[in-house]
Amino acid sequence: MNSEPSDFRLGIITLLGLITASVIAVFAVYRWTQGAYQTALFDAGIVAALLAPVIYARRTGDSLRGGMALCVLNSAACLAAYWLIGAEALTWTYLVLLSNFFIASARFALIADLLILAVLCLLLGRSSNGIQSVSALSTAALTILFSYIFASRSRDDRVQLQEMATMDPLSGVSNRREMEKKLAHAVAERRASHRHYGLILLDVDRFKEVNDLYGHAAGDHAIADLAAILRFEMRSDDQVFRFGGEEFVVLLDVANRDDLETATERLRKAVRDSLRGPGGRITISLGAAMLGQERDWHDWFSRADAALYRAKSNGRDSYVIADDLF
Ligand code: GH3
Ligand code: MG
Ligand code: MG
Repeated sequence: MNSEPSDFRLGIITLLGLITASVIAVFAVYRWTQGAYQTALFDAGIVAALLAPVIYARRTGDSLRGGMALCVLNSAACLAAYWLIGAEALTWTYLVLLSNFFIASARFALIADLLILAVLCLLLGRSSNGIQSVSALSTAALTILFSYIFASRSRDDRVQLQEMATMDPLSGVSNRREMEKKLAHAVAERRASHRHYGLILLDVDRFKEVNDLYGHAAGDHAIADLAAILRFEMRSDDQVFRFGGEEFVVLLDVANRDDLETATERLRKAVRDSLRGPGGRITISLGAAMLGQERDWHDWFSRADAALYRAKSNGRDSYVIADDLF
């Protein structure tokens, strides 16, 4: 997984955007009271421009573009401040250089910061105080370097943490926590958009024997192989979860009960044809249910579970679709 957890960035964009807009708004009022109308209007413009990407990111959830826009604004405001008030704006530079890394991707922030550094070089190159200029440029360059390293490291850590929180390490598919989230989301979406979802709950037949006869490692191996078969068999829109032990759940975007039955039988057959343990063929039993009028995903899940129970009673290596129970 390469994408950065987006709600972290959304939170930072909101926080930094609102705090910065509030602080600059205070400056705008102050400058207005001092009669510096041009600067006050410039500050007010920045406040409005800062709030726009925050509102956009919050409305659409697109924190990547919202963050990039905020980063461009942040940097442009910094450069415009050099032009308007000259060296006085220098003190803001470090804050801008640092905060860019919180709101945009590390690479995007790096480009923005290097542009600011280049403009700073041109500005300070003309200054008569050589040592002070070199010192300002060095500290700015070091701020960029440290921020870049820190941003890259913390992004890697966040991605790894999110992976650990959502993935099952043995099978490589999503875990139960993620399943609960996705099922609840499917129920909410079904009510809002009338999309159709199917749920398949499957359990390895007589798995205890595999462990008892050939050891836990052989059992683990079979679980990983089963997950690989499920991932291979499902369409890219479908999602596979390890519910626990040797039980898996598949969430499918299917139009109707017949399509769900076709997918369920295809899975049963694929596992029967491909899954082998030290003792030979390993089979699964499956229970499936279309999402109906349920308000709670537990009710939907219970119908699939009851169907699975029936498939086990029917002699295993078989499936039952929930509606057929009644
Ligand atoms: P049934 O056909 O009725 O499902 O029989 P079963 O033996 O599969 O059912 P049961 O629920 O009694 O056994 C499940 C076994 O799965 C028990 C446990 O030892 C094993 N198991 C659960 N999680 C893991 C795991 O992560 N690794 C291994 N190796 N075994 C596991
Ligand atoms: Mg079981
Ligand atoms: Mg079992």
